Amino acid sequence: MCLAACSSRASAQGAPDTLAHIAFTNATVIDGSGAAPAAKQTILVNRGLIEDIFETGSRALPADARTVDLTGKFVIPGLIDSHVHVATDPAGQDAKAGATLRLALLGGLTSVRDMAGDGIALGELATRSRRADAELPRLYYASLMAGPSFFTDARTKASAHGGTPGEVPWMKAITPTTDMKLAVRDAKATGATAIKIYADLPADLVKKITTEAHRQGMKVWSHSTVFPATALDEVDAGVDVISHAIYLYWAAIPNPPMHYADRVPPRSAYDSVPADGPAMQDLFAKMKAQNTVFDATLSILPRFEAARESSFGLIDPKRAAQWAYDVTRAAKLAGVTICAGTDGMMPFGSHDSLPGLHGEMELLVTRAGFTPLEAITAATLNSALAIGAASSLGSIVPGKMADLVVLDGNPVSDIRNTRRIAFVVRGGVIHQRLAPSQRPSH
Ligand SMILES: [Zn+2]
Repeated sequence: MCLAACSSRASAQGAPDTLAHIAFTNATVIDGSGAAPAAKQTILVNRGLIEDIFETGSRALPADARTVDLTGKFVIPGLIDSHVHVATDPAGQDAKAGATLRLALLGGLTSVRDMAGDGIALGELATRSRRADAELPRLYYASLMAGPSFFTDARTKASAHGGTPGEVPWMKAITPTTDMKLAVRDAKATGATAIKIYADLPADLVKKITTEAHRQGMKVWSHSTVFPATALDEVDAGVDVISHAIYLYWAAIPNPPMHYADRVPPRSAYDSVPADGPAMQDLFAKMKAQNTVFDATLSILPRFEAARESSFGLIDPKRAAQWAYDVTRAAKLAGVTICAGTDGMMPFGSHDSLPGLHGEMELLVTRAGFTPLEAITAATLNSALAIGAASSLGSIVPGKMADLVVLDGNPVSDIRNTRRIAFVVRGGVIHQRLAPSQRPSH
């Protein structure tokens, strides 16, 4: 029984798509690199990988190739949401994580970066997502580290599976006396590919975690302010990605708070730190030099804009949202690599809606000055860079995974056309959306 959209794998009887050549012909290809669209292309897929791309008709196809004619269609790389939380509430939503992830795949997400939660649930989902025929996005996730004072947060208790919050391998309280080698080794053993640095840590511990995580081959994903460590401290420490535009201004304010719980800015904050002023420019220059990826998460801002004064612990949420859009625009103009993450994979309350990432791309265009091509690169290649998987994901080039979204409209003329999905290809397997009239009522 399916929810609003069902998938069917369009393989020949008994022969998994992953074992044969598929030639997607006559497509207009937007490859994710930022290059202009190329018309009349054939994408040749072999065993789940992109084998070749060439102008349709310029080369003979392998004898075993099944042809899928994409005349009039546009192909972009599989979309990657660089900021999701699919397992933060074991009692509630997580029971539905599998179904939600399936809808996310049918809505164009072929990979996601999960920013920590219940490490047991994430490990199970990530393992399932490695299967060639999995009906969910590839899931990459972080193991969380924070200062001990953070672990009074109610969410950490739910994710500890009866263990003590801050003392389980996927959620670790860090102090100056922590055996960092062991902490990172335990985190890695959960199946996480990254450490998420969240809250209540000073600059020296951020540096210590980052150095050891990199030594053991893990990525480091951080909030853009960890309190008291700021974005400048994190970039100096060498973290790979920083998240949330809205917290960047603390990099320009002397003596930021010691605790994440005190993150409410002073009334003057967003006026005293211009989004494109010298302090932010200094930060952007360092990010560019260090290849720090910026995960702006604009999708959280419309809620701020719609809020009344003094909501979200902010004196002026509308002003804060505008500043976050402006700082994202300034970061892009300064040459910072920006990925696309929603901090909420599927919009709340609707089972047949599309992933929020389509809205994130739209906000990048309408509020932060991105071209549609740049927004597509943010949601594909740059999100793959954030994960640390750009050698196999994020663009349509030979050798990478055949993760594709086939569209009925041109997303370069209107970014909202990324929502007009004909079907999704994940690792060479076609996942077909059903037309609304074919969807079962529920
Ligand atoms: Zn988050």
